[in-house]
Amino acid sequence: MSDFTTPATYPDDLLEGVVTLLELIRSGHAGTRQELAHLSGLGRTAVTNRVNELMDRGLVAESGLGPSIGGRQPRQLRFRAEAGIVLVADIGATSISVGSADLSGRLLVNYEEPWKVTLGGGATLERVEQLFDQMLTSPAVQGLALWGIGIGVPGPVEFATGRPISPPIMPGWDAYPVRQQISQRFQSPVWVDNDANVMALGELRAGAGMGESDMVFIKIGTGIGSGLVSGGHLHRGAQGSAGDIGHVAISSDPTTVCRCGKIGCLEALAGGAAIARDGIDAARAGRSAFLAKVLAAEGEIDAADVGEGAQSGDAASVEILSTAGYRIGQALATVVSFFNPGVLVIGGGVARAGDGLLAAIRHGVYERSLPLATRDLRILRSTLSGQGGMIGAAFMVLDQLFRHESMATWLPDGSPAGHVELPDLSTSRHRA
Ligand SMILES: [Zn+2]
Repeated sequence: MSDFTTPATYPDDLLEGVVTLLELIRSGHAGTRQELAHLSGLGRTAVTNRVNELMDRGLVAESGLGPSIGGRQPRQLRFRAEAGIVLVADIGATSISVGSADLSGRLLVNYEEPWKVTLGGGATLERVEQLFDQMLTSPAVQGLALWGIGIGVPGPVEFATGRPISPPIMPGWDAYPVRQQISQRFQSPVWVDNDANVMALGELRAGAGMGESDMVFIKIGTGIGSGLVSGGHLHRGAQGSAGDIGHVAISSDPTTVCRCGKIGCLEALAGGAAIARDGIDAARAGRSAFLAKVLAAEGEIDAADVGEGAQSGDAASVEILSTAGYRIGQALATVVSFFNPGVLVIGGGVARAGDGLLAAIRHGVYERSLPLATRDLRILRSTLSGQGGMIGAAFMVLDQLFRHESMATWLPDGSPAGHVELPDLSTSRHRA
C-alpha cells in the first residue's frame, strides 16, 4: 500500500517523483521497478510508493513479468493508454477531420467530410461539436473519460489564448474564441494551434520525423505553412506564428495578390490555389488538352487535377508543378540556411499530387543552400498522409497534459477530465 492517501495537493518532492516515474514508463524507457529506481535515482521504497500511487490512480498497470537480471523475474509495468481518450479535429480549408485517440496518441476512430472553412467560426465549430458528440457515442470510445481536446486550424493561432488571429483564408474567424467555446461545451481542457504546427508534431512523434531533433515540416495544401521542431520541441515563437512561410515574399510582381492582401507571397505563387489557377489558365490558353477536358467536365480545376495531369504526362501540368515546387524549394533554402534542420518533411494534400513536385522542391532547396546545411539534409514525404493533423493534435494535447505544471493540478484527481483551466497554466511557455 502507498504511505499516503488521496492528498488534495502533493508535496513537491512526491509530485516530482510521480511525474518522473510516469514519464519513464510512458516513454518506454523503464518497464520495471528496478529500472525506475536505476533511471530516476529514487530509492526502492520511494519507487514502490510512487508506483503504487500511479496504479491507484489507474495510470499504470502491471503487465506480466519482465526480464530477470538475476533472482526472480520483476513485474513489468505499463502506462494505461486506455485510461482515457482525447478528441481531435483537423479543420482544413476544404474539409473537417475529427477523431478520437487513446493516451498513447493512437487514433481509435476517425472521420472526414468536405467543409468550407469560409463558412466562419460559428457554423464550423457547430459542425465540429456535432461530430465530437458522435465520436463520444461510438462503441470504441463510449464510456471512456475525455481527457482533452486538440484542434488544428488553417491559419495563425495565438497559442496562449487558442484564438486565430487575422487568418488570411478564414474570413469571420479573427479572434474567434475557439478554445473557450469548445471547452465550455465539453467541459474539457482544449488546445488550439495552427494546422502546420500540429502536423509537424504528428510527423515528429509518429511519422517521417520520428526521433528527429531538428525538423521542418512544410504543409502544402490550399495554402502553405510550416512547423519548426528545434531540439525535439515544437518552436512556436513569441506569439505562436513561427513557421508561417506561406506569406514570405518571393516576387515583387504586383499582379500576384495574395489572400492576405499583400503581393508576391509564396502561397500566392505556389500553393494549391495558385496551382489550380495556373491549371485553369493553361486549359483556357489551349496549352493543355488534359486540363481543358477536366475544366469542360467539372467546371473547375484543382491542384489534384494538375497532379493527375502531370502523372499522365501532360506537359503543361508537369511545368506548373515543377515551377511551384522550385519556388517552394527556393523559399525553403532560406529556412534551411537559417535553421539547419536535419530533415524536411513535406506534407499536405497538394504534396500528394505526385513525385514531380517533390523533385522540384529538392532541386530548389539544394540549388540555393550552402553545402554544409544540405550535406546530411534529408527531404522526405509525410508518412501520415491525411491523418497527420489529427495525430499531431492528439500529441499536442498529451504533451500539455503530461507537463509538470499540468500534472501537479490534475494528478490528485487521477485524471485531467473537467480541468478546463489547464491550458491557462500550460501556455506560459510556447514550447510543446
Ligand atoms: Zn500572403
